[in-house]
Amino acid sequence: METPSIQYIKGVGPKIAERLAGRGITTAREALFFFPKSYEDRRRIVPLFSLVHGMSACVKGRVVDVRGGQGGFGRNRVLDVMIADGSGRLSLKWFRYNPALADRFPIGAELLLSGTVRAFGPRLEMHHPEILGHDETSDPFGFGRIIPVYPEIEGVPARLLRKIMWEVVQHHSKDIREFFPRWILDAAGVPPIQDSVAALHFPPPESDIAKLQAFSSPAQQRLIFGELFFIQWTMARRRIGVTREKAVPLPWDREIVEEIKKRLPFTLTNAQRRVVNETLKDMAQPHPMHRLLQGDVGSGKTIVAWIATMVAWKNGAQAALMAPTEILAEQHYQRFASLCVGLPVNVVLLTASVTGKARENARASIREGHANIVVGTHAIIQEGVDFRNLTLSIIDEQHRFGVLQRAALRGKGIQAPHLLVMTATPIPRTLAMTLYGDLDVSVIDEMPPGRSPIRTRVLSENERGVAWEAVRNELDAGGRAYVVLPLVEESDKLALRDAVRTAGAVRAAFPDIGVGLLHGRMKGDEKDAVMRRFKSGEDRILVSTTVIEVGVDVPEATLMVVEHADRFGLSQLHQLRGRVGRGERPSSCFLMASPNGSGDDTRARLSVMERTNDGFKIAEEDLKIRGPGDFAGVRQSGIPDLVFSDIVRDARMLYKSREIAEALLARDPGLDEPGHAVLKAWVAEKDSAQASAD
Ligand code: ADP
Ligand code: MG
Repeated sequence: METPSIQYIKGVGPKIAERLAGRGITTAREALFFFPKSYEDRRRIVPLFSLVHGMSACVKGRVVDVRGGQGGFGRNRVLDVMIADGSGRLSLKWFRYNPALADRFPIGAELLLSGTVRAFGPRLEMHHPEILGHDETSDPFGFGRIIPVYPEIEGVPARLLRKIMWEVVQHHSKDIREFFPRWILDAAGVPPIQDSVAALHFPPPESDIAKLQAFSSPAQQRLIFGELFFIQWTMARRRIGVTREKAVPLPWDREIVEEIKKRLPFTLTNAQRRVVNETLKDMAQPHPMHRLLQGDVGSGKTIVAWIATMVAWKNGAQAALMAPTEILAEQHYQRFASLCVGLPVNVVLLTASVTGKARENARASIREGHANIVVGTHAIIQEGVDFRNLTLSIIDEQHRFGVLQRAALRGKGIQAPHLLVMTATPIPRTLAMTLYGDLDVSVIDEMPPGRSPIRTRVLSENERGVAWEAVRNELDAGGRAYVVLPLVEESDKLALRDAVRTAGAVRAAFPDIGVGLLHGRMKGDEKDAVMRRFKSGEDRILVSTTVIEVGVDVPEATLMVVEHADRFGLSQLHQLRGRVGRGERPSSCFLMASPNGSGDDTRARLSVMERTNDGFKIAEEDLKIRGPGDFAGVRQSGIPDLVFSDIVRDARMLYKSREIAEALLARDPGLDEPGHAVLKAWVAEKDSAQASAD
């Protein structure tokens, strides 16, 4: 779109043009996309008698009294101008005012003003109201309508900016080209861009001001839709790209299903069965599976992974399972190995602690194809690890890995391997759609039977006795307990000292009980030994940093105390808490709020944990409280920053934009229809902008 330079707009001289340029506004088009930050309702004059505290209003009245002088605090001059309109009175106040201001209020002068009303007893005041002029004709862009409030631009008075915008909108908003075809706009239920931009600057007189403030006016929805649509379109195309790639199909047969069934130590839940079906169906295709498996902690994802690897093995293919920590990798390894006992399945472990000759052997068996299932940490994706025919890659606790590592594991296959990524961080659906929109999603939304809910309590430091007493009772009843400390990565050393000190305190408090200490600085075999003692019951209290966060499974552990709970995000606390409540005995969790962080906000935030055990609800809360930036994986995701949209507020539009992107992809994947030409150009332009930003 060709639009004139901003200098040619009425009211813009060279000086103002320069100041606008400082904010990136050099053309009429750029001005059109400089949007107001809020709105003020100046459609009508409110009679003074109907003003109430807190109301923002336009008023009109005659000056009946003016007082200037010293306020209570020395230099604090206050100018107090009383106006009346026949229905009531209002006091206007300016603090620390310029003395010349008083000259603007001769007794009897008529004033049109806008501001927020404050009530002090029966007395109504407006502080620093904006003077719109003497009557309704003084500022046609600043009165008689809902007016836009723009971000401040230095040297450009608000009033002038509004006037410039008025000019630009009147003469140039029609020049913007709509890139969505009619059918898409209709499906989204939004007006065309020209009307939207005009309405965003100067909302039509009948607009609902509450909707405007909530970003749900049709004009705002149009911009939100445009932004979300682009993301969903990109994701939808990636999904298609994946299905077009070739992969080795890994079909299941009756024989392997029987073998698996025979070996299952329990009956699968309905949710697990459904997810297994979805996964195996994908794997049987000649295109790579690209599936995200979400399931709350303890919902039983591991067995799904094992079943998938068994199908790969039956097809003579190699499978890899990558976990974020050594403890977890070893646990998976042991579980897989014991599930495969008696079968000619070679399960191989590869972590950083597998060194020397053992490492050489592992690598050789992976290279030569003797290793059927490789379980490990990111040691798996390192240089020098070459698979013979990797056709299935599984990533556990995906949120601990970045997109690059996902890609690296994929890259170990000859063709693109089937990919299953699992996560226990229940990502709110809206966020999953933007983060992992290129993956198909399976959800395990059911817990294995026999779980008893975890009772959670937030305690302050002076209530610590409650927690220790509970630990004592649990131990007496034969249970085991965790004491967890946050590990702040930047201050590893501090956290370590904290852990050592805490372990000392716990040992002193429970001299008759074995107390283990587990932290990230320990070597693999040391950790292993500590874990083994806790699993066997030799130690019955485990003091640990968050290395136990993911996946560790000790059903006898029924109690957890989390120190400095306020330093964790809610989702992370939920992960931690999931280490207990795995057996039949009821479990409890105590969240200690640190003395310095235990304000009301902290307590309120943590109390969400007392109210629900539902990881998805907790994730939604986290998203509301802390925003998407705090969710693991968001920052590495390469999603463009959202300017207009908010994935919590605009969830409905997010779903809609995904549906529309899919409909469009089905109808015209190459955007070759003549009616989609402008859209095609817009997408290409955004694509290249995105690419250069990466
Ligand atoms: P997560 O989804 O957190 O990775 P796991 O796969 O570690 O969960 O499973 C948690 C525990 O539940 C394990 O002890 C596992 O053996 C058990 N489990 C999984 N599925 C079932 C089931 N269908 N019935 C009974 N126990 C199950
Ligand atoms: Mg797990």
